[in-house]
This record gives sequence, C-alpha cells and structure tokens, in this order.
Amino acid sequence: MKITDHIKKANGQTLFSFEIVPPVKGKSIQELYKNIDPLMEFKPPFIDVTTSREEYIYKEKDGLLDKKLTRTRPGTLGICASLKHKYNVDTVPHVLCGGFTKEETEYLLVDCQYLEIENVMALRGDARKEEKYFTPTKGGHQYATELVKQIQDINEGNYLHDTIEASDLSSFCIGVAGYPEKHMEAPSLQSDLKRLKEKVDLGADYVVTQMFFDNQKFFAFVEAARAMGINVPIIPGIKPIAVKNHLQLLPQVFRVDIPQDLIDAVEACKTNQDVRKVGVEWAIQQSRELREYGVPVLHYYSMGKSDNVEAIAKELF
Ligand code: FAD
Repeated sequence: MKITDHIKKANGQTLFSFEIVPPVKGKSIQELYKNIDPLMEFKPPFIDVTTSREEYIYKEKDGLLDKKLTRTRPGTLGICASLKHKYNVDTVPHVLCGGFTKEETEYLLVDCQYLEIENVMALRGDARKEEKYFTPTKGGHQYATELVKQIQDINEGNYLHDTIEASDLSSFCIGVAGYPEKHMEAPSLQSDLKRLKEKVDLGADYVVTQMFFDNQKFFAFVEAARAMGINVPIIPGIKPIAVKNHLQLLPQVFRVDIPQDLIDAVEACKTNQDVRKVGVEWAIQQSRELREYGVPVLHYYSMGKSDNVEAIAKELF
C-alpha cells in the first residue's frame, strides 16, 4: 500500500515507522532480522531501507596502491523484498542520483514494480567521501528533482527510450527529503524550501525530514512549507542519541543543532548505557510533543541496534 494511503487509513492516528541500513557486504541478513523482530509488535506500516554511496578502497598490488570503487553496503532492494515477504510490511527503498545512471535507475524501478514495492524515496545522495561537493555520476541525475521526474515519467509509461502503453503501469508513491534546519548546501532555508516545492510540484507525495532535536525547528519548517503551498504529509525523522561522540558527529555530518539541555545531559553521563538512556528519554519527549502536534508518522533512524527505538516505541505505541 502507498504511504499516503497508510496515512489516510490511520485517520489522524500517528503511525510508527523506522529506517534501517543494510549490513556490510558479506554479513548475514539474520542480524538484521534480530534487530527488526522486536520492532514489529508496534506494527510499522512501512520500513525504509537506505542506499549507500560507492566509495574508494585501496588495495596493495605489486608494491603500489590500487584504487577501486566499491559499495560496502549493497543489497537495498534485496533487503526490501526480503522484509516485505517475511513481515508482510511495505518497504521503501532509497533511490539515489549519485552512483547510478538513469538507465540503472530505470531498471531498479522496473525491479521494484515486479516486487510489488509501491513506495520509493527519491534522493540525490551525498558527495562521495573523498569529494568536497556532490558530482553527478556520468549519465545520472544532478538533483533529486530530476529523479522525481524520472519516476513520475515511468508512472505515466514514459521510459527513457520507449513509451509503454501498458494497462498496469507503475504508480510509485514518491517520498523526498526535507530539512528543518536547511540542507547544508542551501544558501537559505527559504531557498531550500523552494527546491522542496519543486520536488512536490513534480510529483513527490510526501516528505521525510532530516533528524532534528528541537521540535520548534520542525514546527517552523512545517509552517513555512505550508505557507509556500507544500501540502503533502511531512513526516518527522527522529534519531535517538546513542553515544557521546554523536554530540560532535551529528552536527558535523548532518548540520543539525543540538539543544544545550541535551548536550549537558549527555556530557554528564558516566557510561554508554547512560547516554543511550538520555537519548531515549529525549526522543520520547520529542515524539510525545510531535504526536500532539498531529504528525502523521513518527519515523525513527535506527541505524544499527534497535533496542533504543524499541524502548521509545514501548512508551508511545
Ligand atoms: P536535493 O533535493 O537534490 O537537494 C540538494 C541540494 O541542492 C539542496 O541544498 C537544494 O537546496 C539544492 N538544489 C536542489 N535543486 C537545485 C537546483 N535546481 N539548483 C540549485 N540547487 C538546487 N543519503 C544517502 O546517500 N542514502 C540514503 O539512503 C539517504 N537517505 C536519506 C533519508 C532522508 C529522510 C534524508 C533527509 C536524507 C537522506 N540521505 C541519504 C541524505 C541525502 O542524500 C543528502 O542530504 C543529500 O545531500 C541531499 O539529498 P536531497 O535528495 O535532499 O537533494
């Protein structure tokens, strides 16, 4: 079922969902199941599966370093198919501009249709680790807007090199990213919101936000988006802080601010377990307030271990 239909069906009740990251190449999927199993009792209507950018690795060969481009966490679509059938849940593969040609994206979407995956998250992807700025892959897209358009074209039977008048065309429900504290490259929040509006005008059906720790920023973002005519559901993304160095890492990687109260509470922790507890408590408070505000879904970034997301869900769902 489409995410937008799940939201309609919930009739104002806030749903629970989460995002997972594929394991590194060579690891068994069983570890992933072990983390997901305890979360299924909270009945997520959908689970997102991220896609990672390719990266350079260096191998010694004849005394020289050989540089090879590889993906350490492939398997997004396989995991989506596997979770969908194991748990009877909708899965949302993240589809990236970076690292893929338009043809590869088309084939990926054809596979999604055969697997009866009805939702996709359309993202540009970050710059590769060694790049300062995002560079589009040769034959690929530069911005998520172009990817949204390609998906929407396919929904209308307009493939890259052929037009198909099929009776069962795909009708992908398209999610896109939004940034309550603006995307790191955007010159202003207003200009970033204009770009978000372009994605929605081209066919995006819902928005999932970057993590944030101060709900006021989310509320202001939603209001500014509505004022601009962005009327699709906006789903907040929530990340419980899990280790002390998140205080440096999350602002650096995601350009988000951390409120002083949360910083003080984390810094006062003596053990990792204490930090996880503080992260869970903060996320519970954030989630309660967001639910009262009427968000359609509370979407958690579970990354690896899911015990903290489980503790949050136990309090709320
Ligand atoms: P875009 O919407 O293309 O925007 C990128 C930047 O370009 C913004 O600053 C925007 O303002 C600007 N812009 C847009 N259009 C134009 C234009 N025409 N001219 C000039 N500027 C323009 N990354 C991954 O690698 N894998 C994932 O699985 C993944 N999942 C994510 C899930 C969520 C919910 C979120 C919020 C992010 C996720 N990301 C993921 C990170 C995302 O790929 C990065 O934040 C990336 O840098 C931007 O992606 P985007 O889709 O927002 O890009």
